Amino acid sequence: MLALERVGAYIWRPNVRFFQKSQITSLPILFIQRYFHQSIISQVVSRSRSGDHGVPAIKDDVRHIDRIRNIGIMAHIDAGKTTTTERMLFYTGLTQTVGEVHDGDTVMDYMEQERERGITITSAAITFSWDGHRVNLVDTPGHVDFTMEVERSLRVLDGAVAIFDASAGVEAQSLTVWRQADRYQVPRLCYLNKMDKPTASLSMSLSSVKDKLCAVPLVLQHPIGQGRDFTGVVDLIHMRKMIWNPQNRDFGNKYQDSILNEDGDDNLWDSSFLARCELTEQLADLDNKLAEYVLEKESIENIPPPILEEAVRRVTLNQDAVPLLMGSSYKNIGVQPLMNAMVKYLPSPLECKHKTVELYTPHLCAMAFKIIHDKQLGGILTFVRIYSGQMEKGQGLYNVNNEQVEKVGRVMIAYADEFKEVSSASAGNIVVITGLKITSTGDTLVESRSLANSVRKKLVDEKGENQTAMLLGVQVPEPVFFCSVEAPSISQQKALEEALSQLQREDPSLRVTLDQDTGQTVLSGMGELHLNIIRDRIHKEFKVEGELGPLQVAYRETPKALCTHTLVVDKMIGDRRQQVKLTLSIEPQPNHKFKSLELAYSKNNQENLHAIHRKHMTALNHGVSSALTSGPVLGFPVVNIQVALHWCDVGRGTSETMVFAAAAQCVHQLLQKAQCQLLEPFMEMEIVTPEDYTSPLLADITHRRGNILHFTHRQDMRVSLGRKCSLSHSHFTFNLHQLVTSIFNEHDALSV
Ligand code: GDP
Repeated sequence: MLALERVGAYIWRPNVRFFQKSQITSLPILFIQRYFHQSIISQVVSRSRSGDHGVPAIKDDVRHIDRIRNIGIMAHIDAGKTTTTERMLFYTGLTQTVGEVHDGDTVMDYMEQERERGITITSAAITFSWDGHRVNLVDTPGHVDFTMEVERSLRVLDGAVAIFDASAGVEAQSLTVWRQADRYQVPRLCYLNKMDKPTASLSMSLSSVKDKLCAVPLVLQHPIGQGRDFTGVVDLIHMRKMIWNPQNRDFGNKYQDSILNEDGDDNLWDSSFLARCELTEQLADLDNKLAEYVLEKESIENIPPPILEEAVRRVTLNQDAVPLLMGSSYKNIGVQPLMNAMVKYLPSPLECKHKTVELYTPHLCAMAFKIIHDKQLGGILTFVRIYSGQMEKGQGLYNVNNEQVEKVGRVMIAYADEFKEVSSASAGNIVVITGLKITSTGDTLVESRSLANSVRKKLVDEKGENQTAMLLGVQVPEPVFFCSVEAPSISQQKALEEALSQLQREDPSLRVTLDQDTGQTVLSGMGELHLNIIRDRIHKEFKVEGELGPLQVAYRETPKALCTHTLVVDKMIGDRRQQVKLTLSIEPQPNHKFKSLELAYSKNNQENLHAIHRKHMTALNHGVSSALTSGPVLGFPVVNIQVALHWCDVGRGTSETMVFAAAAQCVHQLLQKAQCQLLEPFMEMEIVTPEDYTSPLLADITHRRGNILHFTHRQDMRVSLGRKCSLSHSHFTFNLHQLVTSIFNEHDALSV
């Protein structure tokens, strides 16, 4: 009970002062004449401080799905995600003041560890209205240790904004997140933040977007002023200039939006006009409809803004290019145009098609993508993306993954750390529900068991066996570090187990296993920071003084060669004869994860393989999986391996346990025969440091068995790409891979 109260204390933030009815103020002052050739009026714009403080302008109605945007914010750590999001909340009227990361009072970073460390750990979902749209925004962590959070957010989003530091361009973690977004085919916008820094460089940032992300940036804005003199942007589509006055003490809420004047704005007009022509040309290359229009007009000049906007939207949704905007969130410049672009160019749920969802439509189909613990709202809160149908308070649900029925308690909309109850929510929305007892991250929730069965039947008829009625789940990354965890006393053991089980339900990238040899509980995770945060949460939220053992590297093992082996078991156990004859082969196969045995058909074994009973096949698969959890070198899991079945005879009366044991033994013998080698997790790191520190840094990397891959210069900094290091005057980022160790290397690796 005490533990639960503590959880509540960290999640709730009593000093956040929104949603109070007394704060309802005026309606948005919102009219900007958009067409630059029609208007010459300069006006001060106070963009949509929506007035109704948090109550979304769009009713939760099926007819308005086209005005919903489920958007994620992704970036490298420190690029400014949290700062940008805080501005968004302020401009929409959700908050009354702007929180700053370094003051530790941001709304989006609501866990205590996040405020202490100034980083975003869990993705906080938040809903606000902007320009007649309901935006469900998910802020995601930039640190590589929390890559799982990014993964599960991307799974349920329709569009994303990638934020970069304009003085650093694309950094390592942005690359990882970009690839994750590629995998889920999420249309994106880019936002170059920190344009106020003296070292900010638009051209360097553009090159890095092109070279590192292999993306085509569509530059929609032109900066006004450079470095400290950066005051605003020119909207190239409408040829309007937007200027923010730092003297205004309104956190950039009001800005001057006026037509760019050919006579009055000399240089700015010339360079913006040129940039607009380049943008039009680039768009016409990517979009047939615009190309036709340009050909008809025989000019790329003065193409009307709506025509350009439509073209930008089409190429963004097709993922042929990414619109690029810029600003300085900290100096309150450029966030409103970014928000306009988000609703204008990123897709609505209707524009994102999912094959399995179509089979459920119009009935309820949803995915649980995040679970947190909140005592005040009734324990477990499950964040759910609704893909089709309606979700209602108190209704029954069928969990397709667990094949069990659940009951929804309350249905709520999340506003960072506040939740507003609704009676129902429709397709396209992200909601938070209470009452789910067995659902975990990534589970598919549908209206009923019979509906799931009928969808599965349709899929099997269409695509054959092995089809499930689940939505594509979240890919859980392999852990790279592990350590033991112990309760301080036997009396606290149960509380520790409960805490770990709760934390695991919230975070699938945390694995909890029992070491059979030592009897110790082992935690495996994505990095040192990840496991340290878990320890802090065990202490602070669950009030258990669980201690972590030393951190160890999670090596993997892999076979060196192809090998085949036949195992014959013929034993009397009790009064039953147990007979199994089994031929298996193993083969190294990069990036292959064992799921089930391949059937290696040949002329001689077709009949034998066809005749294997289903229950024996299941036992064989379980036996192989179990054997692969512990390799012959150091007992680490065996990966990058394919296992094939060539022959299987099972005598009458032989138990399934014996078939399981035979498969496991056969694989153990094969692994011995094939000789396994260690796979060492290694980091590809980008280290940015002032020139003076290059030598000690190189020495440190070499000392830690690192290789320098290459050097580049960036303004006054030197960037090197290599392996592991940490120095206080430098910063570094990394990507994780696994590398085969040589014999010499293996000895070295284990002795460091
Ligand atoms: P996150 O890790 O991506 O969420 O980044 P934060 O929003 O926490 O910002 C990291 C640091 O950069 C903080 O100290 C911010 O105050 C600072 N910062 C954010 N945006 C800007 C900006 O536009 N200009 C400058 N100069 N600093 C910024």
